[in-house]
Amino acid sequence: MKKRYLYAPGPTTIPERVLAATAHPLVHHRFEDFARVYESVVNGLKMVMQTQNDIIMLTGSGTAGMEATVANLLSPGDRALVVRGGHFGERWSSICRAYGVSVKPIDVEWGRAVNPKLVEQRLKEAEGSEIKAVFTTLVETSTGVVNDTEGIGAVVRDSNAVLVVDTVAGLGGENYLADEWGVDVTVGACQKCLMTPPGLSFISLSEKAWKLVPNSKSPRYYFDFTTAREKGAANGTLFTPAIGLFFGLAEALKMIEEEGLEHVYRRHELLARACRAAVQAMGLQIFPLNPANVLSAISVPDKIDGVELSKHLRDHYGITFGGGQGQLKGKVLRIGHMGYFDKFDLITSIAALEMALRDKGFILDLSVGVRAAQEILIGE
Ligand SMILES: *Cc1c(COP(=O)(O)O)cnc(C)c1O
Repeated sequence: MKKRYLYAPGPTTIPERVLAATAHPLVHHRFEDFARVYESVVNGLKMVMQTQNDIIMLTGSGTAGMEATVANLLSPGDRALVVRGGHFGERWSSICRAYGVSVKPIDVEWGRAVNPKLVEQRLKEAEGSEIKAVFTTLVETSTGVVNDTEGIGAVVRDSNAVLVVDTVAGLGGENYLADEWGVDVTVGACQKCLMTPPGLSFISLSEKAWKLVPNSKSPRYYFDFTTAREKGAANGTLFTPAIGLFFGLAEALKMIEEEGLEHVYRRHELLARACRAAVQAMGLQIFPLNPANVLSAISVPDKIDGVELSKHLRDHYGITFGGGQGQLKGKVLRIGHMGYFDKFDLITSIAALEMALRDKGFILDLSVGVRAAQEILIGE
């Protein structure tokens, strides 16, 4: 018997209730049974996004939602500012370039959040050569950074540009207020804090963003927002959706509603605090300067190969964390303490990390990290 623990920053462990819901006997997507579950998903997503805007539901992973957004908002030759401070910021820029969009990158050192003043300055510099959209990331999962979306919203709000935020990793775990913060487009997916097997992404658009859609000359068919919005108004989708995932996501959103969004945020904050304390007690360092609550990117000690460490944890202890991506390959280990993750998942994570580090020759007292985490989690 080898028990496996999925503690990656996506996809994440699926609650039993959600798994059971995904096995719901299949219903037809053109009839009432599906319309009910569709409506409940959209309402739940509006709650976690904190938006009143219409939401487009797509079958496809998070990147499908990102690509569809670029295709529906922008035309070849349009200009966009793209915040790049990690793998996922770079993904925005790659998608934009694939659609012929002229990308003005805002490059941020990996591990730091973008300063909203920098976004403001770049918008001002570009005055006259119209910037149509600003692309950013709520939680940059590759570095473990949370960006100041509220601050960015405040500087984009009064410009002609729309603010597009990739919230795939943070939504449902990290404090987020789309409408209040002036976010025009929120892109999310179901397999991270939203505790559902991968395969659904969703996009909310403000009226300011919807104005761009009919003018976009980029080709799209399966991912056309105008027709998807019409179908959505009748609680349906254009094409056959991943029906089982709708049942799963509806259940996951119900769990979030039962726990209460505020409590969900507090739980993630507590887990992050306990993880950071454990890391410090073990003599390690958290990689980012602006760490998110939904994951911790931990710098791997110099003499240890992070790829090997991660493989050892998986093969020997059955624990899956995220490894380093891009320039951080081998240099960080990422614990996704998001979604269906509680204090004992964190204790398990830290205990396993201590054991694996010892196996790899790192000198530390076993349980120092566990103890530091327990001190924070006890009584909670
Ligand atoms: C996981 C993730 C994505 C989406 O990746 P998919 O594999 O396409 O679902 C996008 N952005 C961020 C920040 C992510 O963490």
